[in-house]
Amino acid sequence: MSILINITIIIASIIGMEIFAWAIHKYVMHGPGWGWHESHHTETDGVFEKNDLYAVVFSVIAAAFFVIGSMDQSWLWYVGLGLTVYGVLYAVVHDGLVHRRLPFPRKARGRYMKRLVQAHRLHHAAHTKHGCVSFGFIWAQDVQKLKRELKHNMAELGRSQQTDSAE
Ligand SMILES: [Zn+2]
Ligand SMILES: [Zn+2]
Repeated sequence: MSILINITIIIASIIGMEIFAWAIHKYVMHGPGWGWHESHHTETDGVFEKNDLYAVVFSVIAAAFFVIGSMDQSWLWYVGLGLTVYGVLYAVVHDGLVHRRLPFPRKARGRYMKRLVQAHRLHHAAHTKHGCVSFGFIWAQDVQKLKRELKHNMAELGRSQQTDSAE
């Protein structure tokens, strides 16, 4: 029974982390935290980008769960494991499949993975912090829907820029 509970905690942590990452990406990285994230939306030289600091912060959080969880043998250890699994999935999908920063895997296979990759490419269609779509990393909405949303956002952005310059 306890194995089932532990697996449930791990899966819940992965899902929770995707929701958390989505919110952080949308409201922090594309908001006050743009200073770090901008490096990921523009071409940068070198192996690392400033945006990787977010991954470092999340790793520290996962490590904290491991430490606290192992001290009193609690379920928090499994939350740490869930966060680590999420980190690996993020690295494979985002850094590996979409941005090809890792030497694996070669190509997205299957409808789900292709949708994820296309959705994140659409996220990068806008090069500023405004107007972006698709903020998740391991789950994405329908690509056609995202394309419509992007088009709408770009039109809105154009309109607000026009009124800005007219003032
Ligand atoms: Zn972004
Ligand atoms: Zn990206």
